[in-house]
Amino acid sequence: MIRINDNFCKLPDAYLFSEVARRLKAYSDAHPDVEVIRMGIGDVTLPICPAAVQAMEKAVAEQGDAATFHGYGPEQGYAFLREAICRTDYTDRGIAIEPDEIFVSDGAKSDTGNIGDILPPDARVAVTDPVYPVYVDTNVMAGRAGELGADGRWSNIVYLPCTADNDFVPALPAEPVDAVYLCYPNNPTGTTLNREQLKVWVDWARSNGVLILFDSAYEAYIRNEKDVPRSIYEIEGAREVAIEFRSFSKTAGFTGMRCGYTVVPKALKGSTSDGREVSLRDLWNRRQCTKFNGASYPVQRAAEALYTPEGRKQVKAAVDYYMNNASTLRLGLKEAGFEVFGGENSPYIWIKTPGGMTSWEFFDLLLEKYHIAGTPGSGFGPSGEGYFRLTAFNTAELTAAAVERLKT
Ligand code: PLP
Repeated sequence: MIRINDNFCKLPDAYLFSEVARRLKAYSDAHPDVEVIRMGIGDVTLPICPAAVQAMEKAVAEQGDAATFHGYGPEQGYAFLREAICRTDYTDRGIAIEPDEIFVSDGAKSDTGNIGDILPPDARVAVTDPVYPVYVDTNVMAGRAGELGADGRWSNIVYLPCTADNDFVPALPAEPVDAVYLCYPNNPTGTTLNREQLKVWVDWARSNGVLILFDSAYEAYIRNEKDVPRSIYEIEGAREVAIEFRSFSKTAGFTGMRCGYTVVPKALKGSTSDGREVSLRDLWNRRQCTKFNGASYPVQRAAEALYTPEGRKQVKAAVDYYMNNASTLRLGLKEAGFEVFGGENSPYIWIKTPGGMTSWEFFDLLLEKYHIAGTPGSGFGPSGEGYFRLTAFNTAELTAAAVERLKT
């Protein structure tokens, strides 16, 4: 018999979105005249902005001409894109990052999932709870998670609950860990950490030799830039302990284009089991050169166009559109009497289910009574029970219609 990686068999079925789809279909089949408003959408709905479309069209034409054809590109990404990212997202904001610390990829899901390749096989990792499932499942696949308990927690993963009780600010792990995944603005809770709160994590990581895996896929949604850092490297010392993941998916509608990037500063050093110092940047470079052949040339040209003045204006308009939806939702839900979190610096709204309902009970109520679909919080981890996620990615009209339904 062919032998396989047993760890894959430990993973429970990806139940959340299939169960949402199943219940939605059952409801729609039984009530064909009812229009259900889908507020669980995790994908963007606006098309790619014109600046990116034009750049991609030009790049595609180049690919059809022997004189301008691009074959294999640099595994780390083309210099034109790494330099545009570096200048706009870091240097111009006063953050010391260099282009060769930036690795362009096909998105943050791949990079947050693959980063485990450079962690020790027996690393102990911590995650905030509720959590973007990729962080947990990829550690299960790598054999680091231990066993799944009846309480929905893996025995070797440290869970850091984030609920209304602690204002969604995770406590530092009470036991030693090698790495911690932080995602801010957070999916699913829509909450953020301010500068002081993030500094606590950076200081702790520096004192304890812990790697911070900082997912800032939603940084473009931050409105309060004075208090909420867009990059972890705005915090002093973070270059020595943090890897940052970014994505063009939710900022520029690139969910179907596939492009993101990861920053691994040269100052970030680790140690081998026999005590030799190594650069994590060099490890990640080696990993990428071995397993990845770069994002496609037309897509990287499209991403570069997002950094032109027109591109930046167009991206901002799309983010503003979703943030108006977030505001409509947040204020409307509050007016309707719900306890809501997030949505101020994020496209996600996190609702406390009323009257002690479970997340799935609230899902059924919202669907049957108000014809609105969202995502049960319990699907994102044990501490998501009793919460519910709505997103700002629907149209302004349907978002307003959903709020009207909830108010009546
Ligand atoms: N990180 C978080 C927290 C996300 O919510 C998502 C997408 O939903 C991703 C990463 C994936 O981004 P990408 O489309 O770049 O793979």
